[in-house]
Amino acid sequence: MKFSVEKMLNLTGIKVLNCHEIEGMGLIIEIEKNAKSCTCPKCGYQASSIHQNHWRIVQDLPISDRQVQLKINRRQFRCKKCQRIFSEELDFIDKNRGYTKRLAENIIKQVLDSNIRSVALRNDLTEEEIESILNTQAILIESINFARVKRIGIDEIALVKGQGNYLAIIVDLDTNKPIEILRSRRSEELRKLFEGWGSTVLEQIHEVSIDLWNPYRKLVEELMPNVDVTADRFHVMKQITDELDTARKSEKRAAEKIPNKSEKERKLTGIIKSKYSLLKNEKDLTDKQKEKLKSVLEVSPKLSKMHALKEEFREIFETKYSWGEGVLKLLDWMHDAMSFFPKSIGTFQRWFGEIVGYFDNRTTSGVVEGINNKLKLIKRLGYGFRNFENFKLRSLLTWHFGINYP
Ligand SMILES: [Zn+2]
Repeated sequence: MKFSVEKMLNLTGIKVLNCHEIEGMGLIIEIEKNAKSCTCPKCGYQASSIHQNHWRIVQDLPISDRQVQLKINRRQFRCKKCQRIFSEELDFIDKNRGYTKRLAENIIKQVLDSNIRSVALRNDLTEEEIESILNTQAILIESINFARVKRIGIDEIALVKGQGNYLAIIVDLDTNKPIEILRSRRSEELRKLFEGWGSTVLEQIHEVSIDLWNPYRKLVEELMPNVDVTADRFHVMKQITDELDTARKSEKRAAEKIPNKSEKERKLTGIIKSKYSLLKNEKDLTDKQKEKLKSVLEVSPKLSKMHALKEEFREIFETKYSWGEGVLKLLDWMHDAMSFFPKSIGTFQRWFGEIVGYFDNRTTSGVVEGINNKLKLIKRLGYGFRNFENFKLRSLLTWHFGINYP
């Protein structure tokens, strides 16, 4: 009987002394370490005389749907050589916690798949206990992240589209994992965060990829002395597609004002519902979208030219040019596109160094897209966004606890 309980417990180096069931409490399993002796932390002698037994009760993983309480004897030894009295280490529990490490891990996995309330119910724990388990893990996250960070991306995401509720997210570009989530993208908040990292971390960061937002650039250059700022290529591309979309809208408005009815009809038929076909990469279009593209390019010479320039622009960033070639191609493009993309080109002139920085090592925080989708999923799973700290913790655990959503 003891043997089979030991097998089910599956804790190395532990023997079961006793096991019984108490109505309403589940299984009570009395255990202690197998080892007859313990190394004295002061002098290294193998102490084998027990000074005292210290019993404590912690909750463990359930066995066959029954709650399990481990009644653990943490023995105190007396060293015969130096007289030191000391307690043995138990590696499957943390000090002062009412549960085993593996139960905490299991609880977190459950929370990542549902929400605090139902996990509390399922495990016969209070919501406060679940939150306290999560918070212990938060400490782990904070301690592992920042020592090795060298390249980061700063991006923002809107969890609810159109609500302007932006979160800032910091991604470690070497691991492609988010390492911080801020409740807003305000630069004061970012400043506070970066300053909290301390000068050692700030000095070792040598590359930061950002969107084209000047407060980020100023802040990063101020706080990180050895940094190269690069403009993220997806945000650079977005300048172009946004300007193309604005042109599409104004072409549509102009067509609506054409007095000649059949000419108006012809133009509008070409332009209406062409947004996706115009903006998406041409090579990714379906046959139907290609048809639509053809008809809009036919009725609008302006959109036709802009679309061609947009495709050329993307090509420049997708071809593996050297830095010098990339810069020349981009300059040529800017020259050709001047009258069609005046707004984007104005931005590119202000950000030229950061944009061509891309040709150096092709850093992009494009992973943010995938991260963004996962965060939305986490939010949908019902954790609620009322408590930002819980949301953040839960999100970071998703990446740093080795749990992946499909
Ligand atoms: Zn000793």
